[in-house]
Amino acid sequence: MRQMIAGNWKMNGSLKGLASYAGALARGVTGVDLLICPPFPLIGPLITALGSTPVMVGAQDCAVERAGAHTGDVSAELLAEIGARYVILGHSERRADHAETSSLVRDKARGAMAAGLAPIICVGETLSQREAGEAETVVRAQLAGSLPEEFAQVGALGQAGALGQAGALRLIAYEPVWAIGTGKTPTEADIAAMHATIRAALQKQLGEAGATMRILYGGSVKPSNAGALLRIPEVGGALIGGASLLAEDFLVIAAAAAQK
Ligand code: PEP
Repeated sequence: MRQMIAGNWKMNGSLKGLASYAGALARGVTGVDLLICPPFPLIGPLITALGSTPVMVGAQDCAVERAGAHTGDVSAELLAEIGARYVILGHSERRADHAETSSLVRDKARGAMAAGLAPIICVGETLSQREAGEAETVVRAQLAGSLPEEFAQVGALGQAGALGQAGALRLIAYEPVWAIGTGKTPTEADIAAMHATIRAALQKQLGEAGATMRILYGGSVKPSNAGALLRIPEVGGALIGGASLLAEDFLVIAAAAAQK
């Protein structure tokens, strides 16, 4: 399956750099799905700057409610209306900074799919959980709690059906919390073992749909390690934080994914 390289700009980026970033990506890479998730106010301008290039734009979160008195929140419907295609949900920074629970993530995913956005649901253990030998149990529990049953319905995704196959429309990102932004990564064997665990859990939970969903790896992926990480079995692409901020670095990672 084609890999996806998704950039999570977090609370970075500005209008100033968009044109040159988009220009660099437009000259970029084929054979890989590329997605950039900038802060909310940059979604529309980035879509405009990317023009007819196949690079997709997504959001880093969405509200669980559809509309109403929820100051500061942004609905999935509005994100879809302005052209976002994907939404990252349950990132460890949201789970930690905003006390997001797996059941909230599940409800957001359900609403996102109804609005036509494809969710990328993040799971991952902390360092103390890994050191206590609990990593797989924690991740399995996050999957059980965060994935809506609609994930099992092949092709039932509202307007997002236009995006392609179901496997392209629901993604998991395995992001060990201790690897995010630290320069540390698990060993290739540990990543392979966790991705195999996630695949088995997805198949058990979702049946056929669980067999085709892409499982991204995230956590300190950079140009120098992307080739090795993206070759690990069951790694279907990467979610990139810091290295997505420079188009040149992002493109080197994308090229590594295209060669897989
Ligand atoms: C992330 O925040 O999703 C992430 C993977 O960050 P980084 O690549 O900077 O570790």
